[in-house]
Formats: sequence, C-alpha cells, structure tokens
Amino acid sequence: MSASGPLTRLSEEERLFQAVVAKFARERLAPHVRAMDESGLFRKDLLHEFFELGLMGIEIPEEYGGQGGSFFQTVLAIEELAKVDPSASVIVDVQNTLCNSALLKWGSEDQKRRYLPRLSKDTTGSYALSEAGSGSDAFALATRAFEEGDHFRLTGRKLWITNAAEAGLFLVFANVNPAAGYKGITAFLVEREFAGLEVGKKEDKLGIRASSTCEVILEDCKVPKTNILGTLGQGYKVAIETLNEGRIGIGAQMTGLAQGALDHALGYARERKQFGKPIAEFQGVQFQLAEMATEIEGARLLVYNAARLRDAGLPFVTEGAMCKFFASEMAERVASRAVEIFGGVGFTKDYPVEKLYRDAKIGRIYEGTSNMQRATIAKQLLGR
Ligand SMILES: Cc1cc2nc3c(=O)[nH]c(=O)nc-3n(C[C@H](O)[C@H](O)[C@H](O)COP(=O)(O)OP(=O)(O)OC[C@H]3O[C@@H](n4cnc5c(N)ncnc54)[C@H](O)[C@@H]3O)c2cc1C
Repeated sequence: MSASGPLTRLSEEERLFQAVVAKFARERLAPHVRAMDESGLFRKDLLHEFFELGLMGIEIPEEYGGQGGSFFQTVLAIEELAKVDPSASVIVDVQNTLCNSALLKWGSEDQKRRYLPRLSKDTTGSYALSEAGSGSDAFALATRAFEEGDHFRLTGRKLWITNAAEAGLFLVFANVNPAAGYKGITAFLVEREFAGLEVGKKEDKLGIRASSTCEVILEDCKVPKTNILGTLGQGYKVAIETLNEGRIGIGAQMTGLAQGALDHALGYARERKQFGKPIAEFQGVQFQLAEMATEIEGARLLVYNAARLRDAGLPFVTEGAMCKFFASEMAERVASRAVEIFGGVGFTKDYPVEKLYRDAKIGRIYEGTSNMQRATIAKQLLGR
C-alpha cells in the first residue's frame, strides 16, 4: 500500500485477515457473548481458538511461532472482535499490544526464545502495573524487588490486572530502589508457576465482564535476574512505551464497540414499526444514525492513522492519546444512542446494546483515563 493511500483502504493481506476475524467473531464468538457476560467467565475453548487463529501472536515473527503480521493488523483484529464482544477484544489487545510488544521491543534473544513461542501458542499474558495506591500516578507503585544473588525477590500487590485469571506469564513492574524514584522501576517476566505469585480476588464489574480483572499478589516471589525485561531501572520506559502503543488498541476496541452498536441500531430501526412505518423512516432517527456513523468514522481514522504511524516507525504518542480519548468518549455516546433507538427493549438484556453501553464505560478509564490523555495531548501542544 502506498504511504499516501486512504487510511481505510486495506491491503489484500489486511482485508483477508479482517475477514477471517470477522467470521470467527460472528460464527464462534457471538453465540456465547451473553452467557459469558452473565457468568463473568471467558470460555476456554474460545481462548484456545484465539491461539489457533494466530490472534495471540499477531506481530510475533514467524521464527518465534507468531504470525509475522503488523501492528495495524492487531488493530483490525481488536476492532472486529469488539464489534461482537469487547471482552474478547481486550484479551487479544493486552496480549498483543502490551505483553508481546514489550517482549519484542525490550526482550533479550534468550527471553524471546523462551517466551514468544509460548505466547504465540498457548500462554496468555498479563500486564501488571497498577496498584491500589498507584493508578494514574503509575510510577508511585509500591511493589518492591530486592536483589539476592542470582535473583530478585518481589513483594507487593497488583490490582486490576486484565487476563490474570488465564495468564501464564505476567509482566510485573516493581521498584528496585525507591530512593531513585521512578528510575528504580524495573520490569520482570514472572511465570505463573513461580513460587510466591498468587492470583487473588476477581472483580465483579459493570462491563467487559467476561474479561478477567484480578488482584495479583507477590509474596517473596523469586524471579531470576535473567527475567528482567530491559535493564534495571528502565521499567518506567518499558511501561510508558508499551502503554503508548496499547492505547491505540483501546481506541480500536472502542471504535469496534461503537460500530457493533450502530449495526444493531440500523437493523432494529429498519424492523421496528411505529406510526405505521419503520422508525428508520423518521428523519429524527435517520439523523441520529448519521451522527453515530460520522463519529465512528472520525474515531476510526484517528485509530488507523496512529496505527499506521506506529508501523511506519514515525512518532505517534499524541495521535495515540487522541485516538484513545476520542474513541472512548465517542463509544459511550454512540452506545447510549443505540440503546435509545431500541426504545424500551434496548434497556433489557434481551438485546445486545445494553451490554455494549456498559462495556463502553471502561474505555475512558483503563490504559490512562480521559484526563491522562488530555494531559498527554496538552503537554505536546504546549511543548512541555
Ligand atoms: C477493568 C479494568 C482493567 C484494567 N486492566 C489493567 C491491567 O491489565 N494492568 C494494569 O496495570 N492496570 C489495569 N487497570 C487499571 C487502570 O489502568 C487504572 O484503573 C486507571 O489507570 C486509573 O487509575 P485509578 O483507578 O487508580 O484511578 P485514579 O488515578 O485514582 O483516578 C481517579 C480520577 O481522578 C482523575 N485524576 C487522577 N489524577 C489526575 C490528574 N493529575 N489530573 C486530572 N485528573 C486526574 C482520573 O482521571 C480519574 O477520573 C484496569 C482497570 C480496570 C477497571
């Protein structure tokens, strides 16, 4: 594809990949979405199918067992899955944009050989940065890592960790030298089987209920020095740089969610009759649908542009923050409108839009709240 081509024009490879994910979402995922939302559990067989389809190692080079795809393809996968189930999409999002990409960028050859084939094949990853006392102020994290011979001993409690219930590998951020402030933060690759790591309470959430969000407790957890990702004290860079990319994935999730809500609203508006005709024939309803579609397209362009900038090796931090900020605010508005177009039944669990409305709320909170995105954008505007 030429660098100056339209953002939404897909290459043949991108189009085929998108079609495969869309088919999977429609045929395999959709029938289970409601039950998984109610139970708060993601089906193991579907997770297994993610691996089989190559969705858990999209950017991992083929030599490590991955698909050798692009970041843009990751964004397409997240968007397609989110149209049907935003919970499914965040599982794929965290795996690819936070865990795999951190390993690809910061991992030693030995670490890549040890972990990338597993992450491509059967191992889910988690990204453990947040704690009870450190969310937006992530670098105030209190988890400590004490050096002892050939290993570090990690102690602390991580909160809100996506994929933790299923994960076999955790990217854990801990401070090796609190006196040095954020420059003591270090990233560790911690296997679930390492003694001293325990997955704690699972949150009972408003939305994305099938995606697990748990506490991760580290009590004298011994991690070999060979499992430091990057170098000592560089963890803050690993965290910032992965989240900068991860945000684009959340933008894609919110864009897909909103498209899913619009598609349901379009279908219903054509069917539902009031005053003797389909409600889609009322200009008031048409205008709402037109506004929803326009907002979604705006978000999609921001997301695709940020992703294509990232693949081209160009700066994308501001664009990434903008796409996450805009797409998440937009998704909440669009999903809310979709509920209204369904009228009373939109407010019930018999139709899928109430779930999408609940799922939309998280977009403005995780991977940096809307205020944190505003702060990133403003910093760039003001040259700080
Ligand atoms: C479902 C879910 C999944 C998650 N998954 C993960 C995960 O996988 N890994 C992980 O590490 N974390 C994860 N998180 C944590 C998430 O990233 C944090 O919740 C988020 O960054 C906000 O932090 P907080 O909850 O501590 O809120 P706070 O930081 O306490 O913010 C509270 C409010 O204050 C505002 N605020 C705070 N500081 C400022 C400021 N300086 N200026 C203006 N406004 C401000 C915020 O915008 C927000 O509105 C997850 C959270 C949830 C709910």
